[in-house]
Amino acid sequence: MTVTPEQLRALATRAEALTAEVWTLCGNVQTGPAEPGADASAPAAPDPLVSARQAAGLLARAAEELQLAAADLARLQVRPCGLPWGVCPEHGNTLSSQAGVSTCRVCGRTWDHDRLRRPCHEPATWKVIDRAGTVTRMCDGHVLGARAAAGNATFVRLDQEAGSQP
Ligand SMILES: [Zn+2]
Ligand SMILES: [Zn+2]
Repeated sequence: MTVTPEQLRALATRAEALTAEVWTLCGNVQTGPAEPGADASAPAAPDPLVSARQAAGLLARAAEELQLAAADLARLQVRPCGLPWGVCPEHGNTLSSQAGVSTCRVCGRTWDHDRLRRPCHEPATWKVIDRAGTVTRMCDGHVLGARAAAGNATFVRLDQEAGSQP
C-alpha cells in the first residue's frame, strides 16, 4: 500500500487532538501556593500528573513531526508536468524564444534555452478534467493557459485532492 501525505496529516490531526485532550484533563492543575493554613515549610507534594503533562508535550512534537513527514512526502510525490512546451511558472503562455533564449513577456525572466520547445519540468500541481473526462496533470503555469482555453474543465489542486476539507 502507498502512504499518502493526507494519511499522515490525518494522523497529525489526531495527535493534536490527543495533545489538547491531555492538556484539558491534566494541564490546568495548580500545584502552586498551598491551601490556606497549610504549613508553608512542608515540602511540596509530588505532582502526580507531571508525566501526563510531559506526554502531552511529546504528543505535540509527534504531531509536528507527522506534519513535516507529510510535507516531505508530498514533495517527493510531485511529478513533472510533462506538457510538451514550456511556460513561465508564474504567468503561463507568455514566453517568446529567440536565439535559444526564452523570455517571459510579463515578468522578463529569461531561460538560457529554448524553453518553448522543451517538455515542461515544473512540478505538476493541478489535475484538469475536461468535459470528456480526460485528466491532464499540469503545473501552475500551464493551468493558467488551460483556464483561459477550457471554460468547462474542472480544476483540482493535487495536494487537496484527497484531503478532508476542514
Ligand atoms: Zn513570467
Ligand atoms: Zn507545465
